[in-house]
Amino acid sequence: MVKQEVIAIDGPAASGKSTVAKEVAQRIGAVYADSGALYRLVTWWLLAQGIDPEDHQAVRGALETLKIEAAVVEGRITYSTGDECPADALRTQRVNSAVSPVAANADVRHVVTAILQSLARFGMLVMEGRDIGTVVFPDAAFKFYLDASPEVRARRRFTDKDGNVDKAALEDVHKSLARRDVIDSSRKTAPLRIADDAAVIDTSDLDIEGVVKRILDTVASDIC
Ligand code: C5P
Repeated sequence: MVKQEVIAIDGPAASGKSTVAKEVAQRIGAVYADSGALYRLVTWWLLAQGIDPEDHQAVRGALETLKIEAAVVEGRITYSTGDECPADALRTQRVNSAVSPVAANADVRHVVTAILQSLARFGMLVMEGRDIGTVVFPDAAFKFYLDASPEVRARRRFTDKDGNVDKAALEDVHKSLARRDVIDSSRKTAPLRIADDAAVIDTSDLDIEGVVKRILDTVASDIC
């Protein structure tokens, strides 16, 4: 079977996927694609249209009018709906809370998966997400699943933002990650799970460079 020119990096929120995937893509000259950003953009767009993400019929109708353009800008995929999307809009608490329920909607997944698959036209991809190795590119040349304990992930996510640790805020982040983990892992369509042929990397005790090196070592040893 011909493998697709894709390195799939899946895992739960704050497992280190984004930083690692960007770095791997840059070092091997591949295009970096963040699939979560597309689910976030669809979520932002639905909310901007005044659509209740839980109203499946309204979501289905709206999706028929949604047009998403994808392009490569400085080595990474950018998406646009044609509507003005403020730079920080995809990372607001409102989108954070709505994105997992939106991503659990089978109609949304159908649309987003087709767009993600079409990105193969841009050449070698390093794509991060939840179902890249299982559903989007089941024939990806390389599949990795990054994991870390919920405590480590919450601390990372929090430290990412402000650089210091406040116990109450940490607790909030922990709860919000745990909620997204439950929705992402238990949904019917394309739940978060480890592909049978993925290499699992526990990033709890590794720094970014350690994870990047593991991935590049695997990719290089397989190619050589
Ligand atoms: O990666 P990020 O945390 O930005 O993804 C936001 C949300 O998008 C996830 O919590 C998940 O619900 C959804 N997602 C998904 N499948 C993907 C990527 C993201 O369901 N491949």
